[in-house]
Amino acid sequence: MVLGTPWRDLTFVKVETDEGLVGIGEARAINRTGTLLAYLKEAGNRYVIGRDPFDSEQIFQDMFRKDFGRAGEIVMTGISIIEIACWDIVGQALGQPVYRLMGGAVRTRIKAYANGWYKVERTPEEFHTAAKNAVQKGYLALKLDPFGAGFYELDRQEKTRSISLVEAVRDAVGPEVDIFIEMHGRFNPVTAVEIGKDLAPFNPGWLEEPVPPENIKALKKASDALAPLGIPIATGERLHTSFEFRELFELQAADIVQPDITHFGGISNTRKLANWAEAYYMLIAPHNVGGPVSTAAGLHLGACTPNFKIMEHFNDFDDAYVKEAVTGLPEVIDGYFSLPEKPGLGIQLNEEVIREHPGQSAHFNLFAEDWQKRDAR
Ligand SMILES: [Mg+2]
Repeated sequence: MVLGTPWRDLTFVKVETDEGLVGIGEARAINRTGTLLAYLKEAGNRYVIGRDPFDSEQIFQDMFRKDFGRAGEIVMTGISIIEIACWDIVGQALGQPVYRLMGGAVRTRIKAYANGWYKVERTPEEFHTAAKNAVQKGYLALKLDPFGAGFYELDRQEKTRSISLVEAVRDAVGPEVDIFIEMHGRFNPVTAVEIGKDLAPFNPGWLEEPVPPENIKALKKASDALAPLGIPIATGERLHTSFEFRELFELQAADIVQPDITHFGGISNTRKLANWAEAYYMLIAPHNVGGPVSTAAGLHLGACTPNFKIMEHFNDFDDAYVKEAVTGLPEVIDGYFSLPEKPGLGIQLNEEVIREHPGQSAHFNLFAEDWQKRDAR
């Protein structure tokens, strides 16, 4: 099932067992929903139907290896959707929330940061007002990409404007709210460093994807230059397998890793990555631009993972009906999610909401002017 919004389609999958249990998975395959649906149809028949949901590790291995070709974004997204649904079923079958099957809770609540809150003109005044509105909802951390359509470098006018937007946001939220700076892989290393130095006075909580995701040594160059300023580097939403993280860990090229559970093979594989990151004292902050099932998966991972930092959340600011696609997901209150309490993921799908909002096949282009308004068609 596909739930559409003006800038993203969310793919939901329902996995039913012969004992009557139903597990759900969901992912946002940016600009490639049709491709994901085709993969799920092919792989579902081949690897999923007739299997035992308690065998999710072997199902993962089969989907990852037995088609021979290397697994990339689409395959890892398809695996994730199935794996998350399997955990939902397993939890229901055992009467336990998923995190209690992975070592139990190591925290009582999960900090969230707001995204999607600045669908406004790129002026300091409008960003100031939008940031005030976001913290009035209780959020203690915000993320923004102030850089417009920038790519590789910014001209001086655009750079000054971008810095002024961050200055306005810091002024709006005060010193005690985290501001995370999203660079969306826009810049070459020298530009990312130059901008990072200009942003240092506003005390950013991290710089995210300062350079494009393909070259870890270029990332290392930026992170080495920014470390003396005390600016952490976050990255990882466009790395889809553990193998793609190997060089990042070996070079210690980031401080915070951001796998997307729905593009990284699901909850178990992301948990394995978190354990690996912990050997380098790196924290994990899962990328989450998905809907409520993706968010629920993140809460279960966050509950049981010691080096978990914070959870991304869009759905308090965008397209309210996205949250209504399930019932049972905790709300962000005073900046934190409470832990899910019901068995499995602890949520129930509302298929009527999905039927009422079909896919829109939007092309969301982060390198177009005014992308931050998220009204792509
Ligand atoms: Mg990002």
